[in-house]
Amino acid sequence: MKLYNTLSRTKEDFKPLNPPEVKMYTCGPTVYSYITIGNFRAYVTADILRRVLEFNNYKVNYVMNVTDVGHLVSDADTGEDKLEKGARREGKSPLEIAHFYEKDFIQKSQELNFLEPNERPRASEHVGEMIKLIERLERKGYIYITSTGVYFDVSKFVNYEKLARCDLKQQMQAAREDVVADETKKNPCDFRLWQLNQPEHILQWDSPWGRGYPGWHIECSAMSMKYLDEQMDIHTGGEDLIFPHHTNEIAQSEAATGKQYVKYWVHNAFLLVDGGRMGKSLGNAYTIDDIKKRGFEPLALRYFYLTAHYRSPLNFTWEALQSAQNGYRNLRGKLSRLQLGSESGSESESESVHRCGTGSEKDHVDVIAQFSARFQGAINDDLDTPRAMAVLWEMVKAEDLSAVDRLSLAEKWDKVLGLDLLNDELKTQSYELKELPEQVQKLISQREELRENKEFVKADGIRERLQGMGYRLEDTPENTEITAS
Ligand code: AMP
Ligand code: ZN
Repeated sequence: MKLYNTLSRTKEDFKPLNPPEVKMYTCGPTVYSYITIGNFRAYVTADILRRVLEFNNYKVNYVMNVTDVGHLVSDADTGEDKLEKGARREGKSPLEIAHFYEKDFIQKSQELNFLEPNERPRASEHVGEMIKLIERLERKGYIYITSTGVYFDVSKFVNYEKLARCDLKQQMQAAREDVVADETKKNPCDFRLWQLNQPEHILQWDSPWGRGYPGWHIECSAMSMKYLDEQMDIHTGGEDLIFPHHTNEIAQSEAATGKQYVKYWVHNAFLLVDGGRMGKSLGNAYTIDDIKKRGFEPLALRYFYLTAHYRSPLNFTWEALQSAQNGYRNLRGKLSRLQLGSESGSESESESVHRCGTGSEKDHVDVIAQFSARFQGAINDDLDTPRAMAVLWEMVKAEDLSAVDRLSLAEKWDKVLGLDLLNDELKTQSYELKELPEQVQKLISQREELRENKEFVKADGIRERLQGMGYRLEDTPENTEITAS
């Protein structure tokens, strides 16, 4: 299996530290508001990676934290704590806010079919571990204390830029130009491990340096070391985390332990909206509820994510999500027709069994082996999901394979894709008109009009078009029933 490692900027052969175990950590959400479909691209990437590892028979120990304190509005250690900002906005306590959005995140993660992490530690419940790690750094002479906090001195850590490959001088300059830069720091890139003298901050803990709260970066090092030990195989996150968050995680962890912290760093590219940045202030930071309100299924969004390679930017538009949903429903429709035995080329299990032992059996086994190798080749090539989906589509349409074989390959591959392809709930689920996408509603009412005017040929044309989009229309004496096709 090959994996692109940000550390080397190359695709490397994946060799875990202690096979078959793989230790993997993902920087989890800062739970101060609803998680956006941009953030979810990062978590889908991690979920696919974990599933691919399990497909390759590795035993994955997967940790995703929850950040419920200490992540400031600016990643450069400045501004307000996001949780406290959320609390003020909603008139609740920071932990009430955190628990509410964490619960929502977990529910949405289930709707997107993520496998549960082995651990989901909350930062606010691991402050003791963070203090111990800072003490270790203090003993080794990496920290200094000012009126605003305890800082990590980056000049003491050799090779600070190894992950970001940034020009430290340029970064220093950028940090210096930050309007609210902290004047008490020795170097502009030094980062705060512990915040001091902020009496108005609600969440505070006692520490050897005074009452305060942890910095965002130290949280991930302390929690990953608690659950995965001092060295791990894989650490993931969006590409914006390369600097400063992951750069700082490496510096403080390796300074404390003297060992390489992470072997493979995996970063996903961003989700764009209408070709540009997505942001709360731009009104396009869509959530899973936003897409559901417009009649889209969360799993159609998962399908959409998989149509692009995780290291390529992906542009979200409502039209693109609509075609992903059409594709997703077509795929499920095809598979459910194979299950019902109504798809051409499909045959019953007894026929398929009967064919075994005939002269064509070897060819048939070869076809299955070739498809399996192509699918595995795609996912093992740095998680090439677009290629894997193309192989899936080709296989589902392969008439030289029996329905039983196609269904069994789809079921196996779905363990990686997580699209719930063979759950037959969808094929019987009927839809309310108002929950359907606008374009679908329009087509349905056009068809109604045509039927009222007795233009049945045109009406049937629309029915077929809707069928192609994944909606089956059944006319009963009372109404028209709409189900997934
Ligand atoms: P945050 O809660 O801001 O720390 O972000 C959570 C995760 O989402 C991090 O891994 C970010 O890198 C990632 N992320 C944020 N915005 C996007 C986006 N538009 N596209 C992809 N990943 C993102
Ligand atoms: Zn992190």
